[in-house]
Amino acid sequence: MTAQIIDGKNFAVALREKVAEHTSYLKEKHNITPGLAVVLVGEDPASQVYVRSKGKQTIEAGMNSYEYKLSADTSETELLTLINQLNADTNVHGILVQLPLPEHLDEALVINAIDPAKDVDGFHISNAGLLATGQKAMVPCTPLGCLMMLREYCGSLSGLNAVVVGRSNIVGKPMAQLLLKESCTVTIAHSRTRNLPELVGGADIVVAAVGQPLFIKGEWIKPGATVIDVGINRIEQGDGMTRLVGDVDFETAREVAGAITPVPGGVGPMTIACLLANTVTACCRSYSLPEPQ
Ligand code: NDP
Repeated sequence: MTAQIIDGKNFAVALREKVAEHTSYLKEKHNITPGLAVVLVGEDPASQVYVRSKGKQTIEAGMNSYEYKLSADTSETELLTLINQLNADTNVHGILVQLPLPEHLDEALVINAIDPAKDVDGFHISNAGLLATGQKAMVPCTPLGCLMMLREYCGSLSGLNAVVVGRSNIVGKPMAQLLLKESCTVTIAHSRTRNLPELVGGADIVVAAVGQPLFIKGEWIKPGATVIDVGINRIEQGDGMTRLVGDVDFETAREVAGAITPVPGGVGPMTIACLLANTVTACCRSYSLPEPQ
């Protein structure tokens, strides 16, 4: 039996519709339009694509989109001045600084300059701390999207063994925190982990956020496990063309897993949808209005 394919595109469409509905409710009942400001420094081609797509989807959801494109040689002071302006702007409910930043800019300093209440990426140290202590936080978009899909496919996650491969601040660690909050027994694996295949073999849930193409093999996976593949890797096909693959060897894993996200079309589409959802949440919180459930 092959695994059920977890269709992230469908999930994202449903979530974006929910966001658009809540946005029109905020406009009609409260005369408020949620606004998302996205700051891009430099000309990284992948970042330009992401920023364009975020702006487009923000507008499609009925929200205001503010884009700030700064040159690669922007100074830290200039960037911090812009962030302070956005922090003070009552039309802006969410602020996102597209990463990576050019090398001369201190990423942690810049992220921590964002008002935590407007930190829709959930990367501010206050939001990381709130999440780690089980309090109301802005939750990073990628792990939030993974959790939504897991809840849908597994129902209650309580007591399940989860292995998160990767310990980055933007994916692995917050994913582990979210799963812990759901009462999973969580193992975080990383590049120094011993016996990774054995650990993965004991997991009911595997989240792969490694950044290594086709790294996790089907033979490692417990039959029936749910596999969430966060990885986005571009590999050569042999005919001079390239294609996107995940961190999981999809073809072998789908023969064993109970459910699995494809790449592309799995976690990726949910990330931007969660960004829009976080912006509406931030907007509602700023006016002490009920948040979308
Ligand atoms: P990072 O490079 O920041 O982290 C990768 C993690 O994987 C590290 O913790 C590293 O361990 C671990 N790792 C590396 N090699 C191994 C190994 N051989 N065995 C076990 N663990 C290993 O990546 P990110 O977390 O930012 O991203 C992970 C992947 O997810 C990337 O492919 C990225 O493109 C993708 N991504 C996708 C998103 C989406 O929307 N779908 C959003 C964000 C990321 P150590 O800490 O020891 O170095």
